[in-house]
Amino acid sequence: LPHAAVGLLAGLAVIAFEPLACAAGTAGGSPAWSYGGPDGPAHWGELDPAFATCATGRMQSPIDLAAANAEGTIVVSVHYRRVPLTILNNGHTVQFDGSGAGGLVSRGTDFDLVQAHFHTPAEYSIAGIRRPLDAHFVHRSADGSLTVLVASFVEGPPNPVLAAMMPYLPDVPSDAKTYPDIMVDPSGLLPADRAVYRYMGSLTTPPCTESVNWYVLRTATTASKEQIARFAAVLGMNARPVQPLNGRLLVAPPEGGS
Ligand SMILES: [Zn+2]
Repeated sequence: LPHAAVGLLAGLAVIAFEPLACAAGTAGGSPAWSYGGPDGPAHWGELDPAFATCATGRMQSPIDLAAANAEGTIVVSVHYRRVPLTILNNGHTVQFDGSGAGGLVSRGTDFDLVQAHFHTPAEYSIAGIRRPLDAHFVHRSADGSLTVLVASFVEGPPNPVLAAMMPYLPDVPSDAKTYPDIMVDPSGLLPADRAVYRYMGSLTTPPCTESVNWYVLRTATTASKEQIARFAAVLGMNARPVQPLNGRLLVAPPEGGS
């Protein structure tokens, strides 16, 4: 494998399978990191040589979407399916398993959903404003490329998929647990309007691996005040600060259209 592909796979292994992360220290030989203090985002790059890209990378995520420098209609064809809920808390986020749940097609390439996880508040900002909650759908193609689709939430009517997951959110770091009777359809977390921003970035957690294709849905869907509060209580603040665009292409969907 080319070095870049190895790096991508290593990064994916961290987000997909890291069992018990920072809460208990250095599980699995990976250094502790967090969202504040001496092992917070400003220091991620110094915590381990494997995390150097967090400090030196020029294509980091997340970013502020108001910096868009191009406009275009990008069609993301999503084909998700219902799967039994398999969920874990890795000490940084709560994520559910995407295996068997379908995926998306980007520029003619199939990407399978690997996992989806949540951030409070949303990692992307729009002119400095962050929505209260977002979901990152992490996909991988046959050649190991990563594409992340982002859906965000604002306060309003409850979301049925979040409602189904709510009783099973692990409050503390935990191994994956499957609930065969709880079926979740990831598409229920997406807005009807599938217009996206698109740019090339990185994982937003150490090791901050680059060459990740990001699609950020423009339109938020809603979650109830109670749902947002519950996710915030479980996750705590787990949004990395926005990173410089450094001249990258950031394509915004056309105004108003969908
Ligand atoms: Zn994420």
